[in-house]
Amino acid sequence: MDFSITDEQRALKKSVTEWARATVAPGSADRDKEGRWDPEVWQSLARQGLAGLPIPEGLGGGGGSIVDCCLVNEAIGEGGRDGGLTLSLGAHWVIGTVPIWLHGTPEQQAKYLPGLCDGRLMGAWASTEPEAGSDAAGLQATAKRDGDHWIINGTKIFITNGPIADVCTVLAKTSDRGATAFIIEAKTTPGFSVGRTLDKMGCRSSPTSEIVLQDCRVPDTQRLGPVDEALFRIAFECFDWERTVMLAAGVGGMQATLDDAIRYAKQRTQFGKPIAHFQSIAHKLAEMKINLEIARTAVYRAAHLKQIGEPHSVEASIAKVLIGKLAVDNALEAIQIHGGYGYLRDFPAERALRDAKLGSIGGGTTEIQKMIISRVLLGE
Ligand SMILES: Cc1cc2nc3c(=O)[nH]c(=O)nc-3n(C[C@H](O)[C@H](O)[C@H](O)COP(=O)(O)OP(=O)(O)OC[C@H]3O[C@@H](n4cnc5c(N)ncnc54)[C@H](O)[C@@H]3O)c2cc1C
Repeated sequence: MDFSITDEQRALKKSVTEWARATVAPGSADRDKEGRWDPEVWQSLARQGLAGLPIPEGLGGGGGSIVDCCLVNEAIGEGGRDGGLTLSLGAHWVIGTVPIWLHGTPEQQAKYLPGLCDGRLMGAWASTEPEAGSDAAGLQATAKRDGDHWIINGTKIFITNGPIADVCTVLAKTSDRGATAFIIEAKTTPGFSVGRTLDKMGCRSSPTSEIVLQDCRVPDTQRLGPVDEALFRIAFECFDWERTVMLAAGVGGMQATLDDAIRYAKQRTQFGKPIAHFQSIAHKLAEMKINLEIARTAVYRAAHLKQIGEPHSVEASIAKVLIGKLAVDNALEAIQIHGGYGYLRDFPAERALRDAKLGSIGGGTTEIQKMIISRVLLGE
């Protein structure tokens, strides 16, 4: 098994880390405090050619492989220290844009992908509902045919980029057999509106909201993929992307947290010597490094398998469970190493903890990942 990356990939990761350090990190604490999305940071990211990285060049994107996308997301997580930006980027990439690339008609691809890739359009995906979270098949939103149009009604919740999306793919039940996906032009389609903006504990610079669909009428040409097959044909495939590419940002966040903890442990003196020289602190650093490398290996193993076309669903779930736990463990240890200062909002460790907690919830909880893994083990 070859986990090596090319010189080109190494250079890509380095340049994105440097860009994120210079452009994203400086305002990340303020954006977190204010729960504020910054369009200028997003436009800067787009100017780096990153907004459409997973999409082939011929369709307007950057033509990056899944491993490239992981490296870039890791680099932004490490250099930028802004879990909100990587959440919004991940949602834009893997659930906002990739479904249109993989399942869109040539007309849909030509209409939306260039703008989604160059930063003119922001993507979102709306499947979760107040009564249908883990149980994705329990959707209550409906889409009813009306000639060559569909009328969509329902409420969505927890939609990343909801308040800022231009293009939102909405899932609605079309029969007892299943759900269908529709690409909706969020800012101009009557009947589509942004509901309550949600006040989150972490990833606060990423805007999350409810979406309300009230007699929202869209032509059949906006249907993405076959009728009734959105869950099995589109959603589950995208969730594999979600569980690999989006997790890489968590690896970057873990690296940044470890670097901070090392720096602090070397510089903070108690009992006449740096606290790094106390074995219990040094061992905490060693355990954080072990956790980081376990998480990194799991994410890149899932990405590598996906890249070479091998089954990777179990590996992606394993990576998600590991990141959901280990990123939180490391953030807690970083807080402990910083002592009382770690408990203050002045230091990034507490923000890292709040950002990291989403890993065990968003895009399928830890419990659901274990269900996926155990079903495969049991042959169900
Ligand atoms: C910040 C954020 C961003 C999000 N972004 C998006 C987005 O862009 N688009 C979108 O569509 N959704 C999005 N989501 C929704 C997210 O995917 C769901 O929150 C998640 O799937 C869990 O659903 P739920 O919150 O309804 O929890 P529930 O499904 O109600 O689960 C509650 C608890 O019960 C457990 N549980 C549920 N069923 C089982 C079971 N069968 N066995 C064992 N335990 C179980 C869960 O693991 C959890 O611990 C986002 C969520 C958050 C918090």
